[in-house]
Amino acid sequence: MKNPSTESDDAFRRPHETSIFVTPSDVIEYLFCPRFLYYMHVLDIDQHEHKRLLVNKGRDIHQLKLVRNKEYLRKKIGCIDKQLDVYLTSAKHRLVGRIDEVLFLENNFAAPLDYKFSFWEGKIYKTYKTQQILYALLIEENFQTKVEKAFIVYIRTNNHLEEISITPKMKQEALKIVDEIFDILNLNYYPAATRYKNKCLDCTYRNLCTV
Ligand code: SF4
Repeated sequence: MKNPSTESDDAFRRPHETSIFVTPSDVIEYLFCPRFLYYMHVLDIDQHEHKRLLVNKGRDIHQLKLVRNKEYLRKKIGCIDKQLDVYLTSAKHRLVGRIDEVLFLENNFAAPLDYKFSFWEGKIYKTYKTQQILYALLIEENFQTKVEKAFIVYIRTNNHLEEISITPKMKQEALKIVDEIFDILNLNYYPAATRYKNKCLDCTYRNLCTV
């Protein structure tokens, strides 16, 4: 896939004129290419693939329900309680997102758990990692708990479970990305193009982009 994927919080996407919150989907698009985000949400030029991915997301819901019944995944983590499909906002961080599962662990710790309809490829991509860090910040603020780890289940590789350790430095870096996105969406700041020109080859916006 050459264009950034959409995520579950897409349902909460807002028109750019009222962008007071950043979503993890914005972050995924930003990490693909900051300029991609500008075309899509500042100039409001939609991309065909975006709609197709939303349709696919709907098809995946059935699969998600089947996986969620697998309680052994949560036992492995040491989860003592959980909430499903949790929609959280943070005015402090100007963030909004919907988390597949919030897991409550012992000693007042919590963690996000996210299901990816993809294969485990031996590493956790920066997009996924950043998304989980932002979820961690949302959980900390809304539930007054500490979050130092996150979990991803790769459904297409036999529900492979990966753990991410989250440090304070990682949280700071993720918040810096949020600041940069906020400037693009709200100050109409035209950002630099991605350094990785191979992304431009089949980008939806390549015909109008000044690269
Ligand atoms: S063409 Fe390249 S620089 Fe322009 S938006 Fe697409 S990926 Fe970014």
